[in-house]
Parts: sequence; C-alpha cells; structure tokens
Amino acid sequence: MSTPPRPRLVVVGNGMAGMRTVEELLELAPGLYDITVFGAEPYGNYNRILLSPLLAGEKSVDDIILNTRDWYEDNGITLHAGDPVVAIDRVRRIVRSQSGIEAGYDRLLLATGSKPFVIPVPGHTLPGVIGFRDIQDVEVMLAAARDRRHAVIIGGGLLGLEAANGLLRQGMSVTVVHLMDSLMERQLDKGASALLQEALERKGLRFLLNARTAEIVGPDRVTAVRLDDGTEIRTDLVVMTAGVTPNIELAQRAGLHCDRAIVVDDTLQTYDPRIYAVGECVQHRKATFGLVAPIWDQARVCGAHLAGAGHRRYIQRASATRLKVTGVDLYSAGDFLGGPDTEDLLLRDPRRGIYKRLVLQHDRLIGAVLYGDVADGAWYVELIQNRTDISRLRGYLLFGKTLCEAQAA
Ligand SMILES: Cc1cc2nc3c(=O)[nH]c(=O)nc-3n(C[C@H](O)[C@H](O)[C@H](O)COP(=O)(O)OP(=O)(O)OC[C@H]3O[C@@H](n4cnc5c(N)ncnc54)[C@H](O)[C@@H]3O)c2cc1C
Repeated sequence: MSTPPRPRLVVVGNGMAGMRTVEELLELAPGLYDITVFGAEPYGNYNRILLSPLLAGEKSVDDIILNTRDWYEDNGITLHAGDPVVAIDRVRRIVRSQSGIEAGYDRLLLATGSKPFVIPVPGHTLPGVIGFRDIQDVEVMLAAARDRRHAVIIGGGLLGLEAANGLLRQGMSVTVVHLMDSLMERQLDKGASALLQEALERKGLRFLLNARTAEIVGPDRVTAVRLDDGTEIRTDLVVMTAGVTPNIELAQRAGLHCDRAIVVDDTLQTYDPRIYAVGECVQHRKATFGLVAPIWDQARVCGAHLAGAGHRRYIQRASATRLKVTGVDLYSAGDFLGGPDTEDLLLRDPRRGIYKRLVLQHDRLIGAVLYGDVADGAWYVELIQNRTDISRLRGYLLFGKTLCEAQAA
C-alpha cells in the first residue's frame, strides 16, 4: 500500500522569523510536511542582528550564518535562495517565483520582514544612498569605507547608531543627522540619551540634532546632504535608518487583509485559514514588531499550530533593547517614559558613568532604562513581564537583583 503524499508547506521569506518557525515545527512534528522555502536573498538564513558587528569588523559572514545549506538538505527542505516569490494564487493554492518556479501549498507561511523606509527627498535614488538591512547593504558600506572618506547617517535610532559606529570603526568620518532633539528617543529618556551622545562623541561621531534633511545632492552620485536650514554636509555615502516598512505588497496583491502590516490573529493565522504570517511583516492587535524577542514568541505559537498541536496563543509582552556598540552599555525595556500615574526611581552617578531609571506603577515595575551598568537588565525585564509586586524591594530595587535577594532572605 502506498503512503499518501505529505501536505505541502511553502515558506516565503528565508529570514529569522520564517526559519525559527520552521525549526519550532520540526521540533514538534518532524516529517509532517514537504517544506519548500523561497528567499529573496542569495544565502541561507543568517542572524540579521549581527550585521552591526559584521560592519564593525568584529564578525565575518560565516560567523553570522544560522542555517547553512546543509541544514536545509538534512531536514529535507527545498530552498530557492535568491528567488523571491512574486505572486500567490489563493484559488489554485500556488506561489510563483521571479524565476518562474511554481510551488503548490496546503499551508503557506509569509515571513517577508520589512525594508528600510527611504525618506523621499530629492536625490534619494542617487547611487551611494542605501539602507541597513541585509548583507548586501553591509558590503556596499564596506566598499565605500575602503575608498571613500565621509558618511552621513540619517536617523539617530538603534540602527543608525550601530551603522555610524561600524563605519567609524572602518575609518570613515561619520555625521549622524537626527530629526529629534535626543538620540534613540524611542528607547531612552533624555538623561540616558545625553550620556550616550557624550560617549559616542568621545569615540569620534558627530551629531546634528533637530535636523531635517531637505535634499540629497548629486548629480551622478551623492556628494552632500542639504538640511532645511541650508546647512550642507559633504558626504560620499548616505545610510537611511529612519524606520522600516513591512513587506506586504505580495499579501496585498493576493487580497489578504492588511493594515500597516499583514493582520493576524492570536494563532498567527491571516484572514485566509491556510495562510500564516510571522515576524516584522505582521500586525497583531494593532502592534507591529521590530525586535526578535516577540518574533521568537510568535514562531513558537505558529510552529505549534502548523504542527497541528494548536493550543498556544500569542500574547504580546514587554521586550528589551540593547545597543551593540562595543564599550557602550545601554539597556531599555517596557514603558520607560511613564505617565501621570507612574513614579520614577532614579540613580545618577556621572563619575562612574552610571544612570538608572526605573518606572513604577502601583507597586509594579513597568519600565527600565539602564546606562553604564546593565547587569540587571534581564532581571528587570522579568519583573516587568511577571508583573511582580515590588513593594518589599522598593528601597533596593535600583541596586539590582543580588542586593534585593539578600534583603528578602
Ligand atoms: C542591523 C540590524 C540590527 C538589528 N539589531 C537587533 C537587535 O539588537 N535586537 C533585536 O531584537 N533586533 C534587532 N534587529 C531586528 C531583527 O533583525 C528583526 O526584527 C528580524 O530580523 C525580523 O525577522 P523577519 O524574519 O521578520 O525579517 P527578516 O529577518 O528581514 O527576514 C525576511 C526575509 O524575507 C525576504 N523576503 C522579502 N520578501 C520576499 C519575497 N517576496 N520572497 C522571498 N523572500 C522575501 C527578505 O529578503 C528577508 O531575507 C536588527 C536589525 C538590523 C537590520
């Protein structure tokens, strides 16, 4: 008697969310599906987070690969790398790739991530203007650092500062142009942000805050960035790190319900029950995502549902951000700004370069910003996520886990 054919799972997007979901699925139900993966990039899956150390020269491409080609082969997965999916036919249940490959599916997983938001100022399409999202962007930056001198980063968030640090380490002279009046304002309060700026200036970075880019000057390749007050900054390279846009065009063209991103329910299912979506391309209960911690949670839930063991539900939790600039310790989590019904615990020790701010609401920790001493960051996140009553720890909370546990004993 012949065995019935296995159901087919097609994954669009060979990045961190897609492959983590496949790993979760293989753990629970190895061999359940015939799996085919399409990836726009010509590599196996790699750790995108480590693009910053790759740019800074602290890691090599081999160091950041997560799933080698052998891994796909060993798990019986067909990988089409460097061949993006261009169409989904939901009636025939087929995807078509750019090179013309058609693959039928019983379940489809969309994990297309996002792309850098390019500010549409005049000159934004000139050669020498790039984002910071993939290995190719890093290769362009490294090539520029070899034979050119000046770089401008537009956007003083996490990604912008990591790009700036990397290019500085590669010998370029780097200016960061930021629209707001403080760096990383989405993760840091003003106190920590000021310390960060000083530390980065000591390393050699230049900052222009409250600065709006009006034009990128050419004509054949970028030569300068012009601000709206007329200031011109000479440059050979512009890196745009002013946010990301979820890759949803494919889903939209297939008629899947999208808002800012592909809308999913608590099981990561889209409005088509055969199609799931995970990662930066999804919108769950109004939120979109830009860090891996929530994406790992999504992958666990989605992997379980694909495995047919679908009792898990995805719940959003507070997550933490850490800047990956060697010598700068910075950690931020939860609601670090607070509001009218919150209280702050503050420790400021400029001589040792330490700044800690904990935000409390009704005897619960809801946010934390740490600079200079981040050893307790993960513990604070645990307190936030578990909604631990900290009333008995309050007097020691700023001094960390060890002291709190000693006092509680
Ligand atoms: C430089 C950098 C540093 C970062 N640092 C941190 C950090 O310190 N901490 C943290 O938590 N997060 C960090 N992040 C964010 C983190 O990397 C992302 O949240 C994570 O990679 C998102 O995973 P994803 O699978 O949704 O998207 P991606 O990893 O981008 O994967 C999506 C993949 O889908 C492919 N794709 C798109 N469309 C198609 C198509 N039609 N067909 C086939 N393939 C397609 C894309 O090319 C891409 O390879 C960083 C990101 C960058 C760029």
